[in-house]
Amino acid sequence: MTALRELYQEVILDHNKSPRNYRRMENADRKVDGYNPLCGDHFTLFIKLKDGVIEDISFEGAGCAISKASASVMSSAVKGKSIQEAEELFKKFHTLVRGESDPMEDFENLGKLAAFSGVSEYPARVKCATLAWHTLHSALTSKEYRVSTE
Ligand code: ZN
Repeated sequence: MTALRELYQEVILDHNKSPRNYRRMENADRKVDGYNPLCGDHFTLFIKLKDGVIEDISFEGAGCAISKASASVMSSAVKGKSIQEAEELFKKFHTLVRGESDPMEDFENLGKLAAFSGVSEYPARVKCATLAWHTLHSALTSKEYRVSTE
């Protein structure tokens, strides 16, 4: 599991320092605020949809290193994916960070998402890691414009 631990450090550091898709988006089709009161992480997610595909995605806001890195990795992972594919990734990520699946089993599909499996050892951090995903899920499936992990 050392390789995963190294990947975790690398991904968190890299994406926290230079988050991908970190910008406000004008005329987004979906705009949802996500909030994790336990840690104080709060992000706004912007999505542009075209024919059921996430054509563009961005976020802005502030939070701890894990929440920010997770939002960054999530945005890169689902950009260009269909709503259904993004929802499947959301489910995979969720079981991963709760320690309910083995990241090595699906490593090829998970890519950098596998790094977050380390979070399962710290239950308080799971909400930080899943905040962006819950916000995405809401943006894709409902008309809720505000999501809280509590
Ligand atoms: Zn946090």
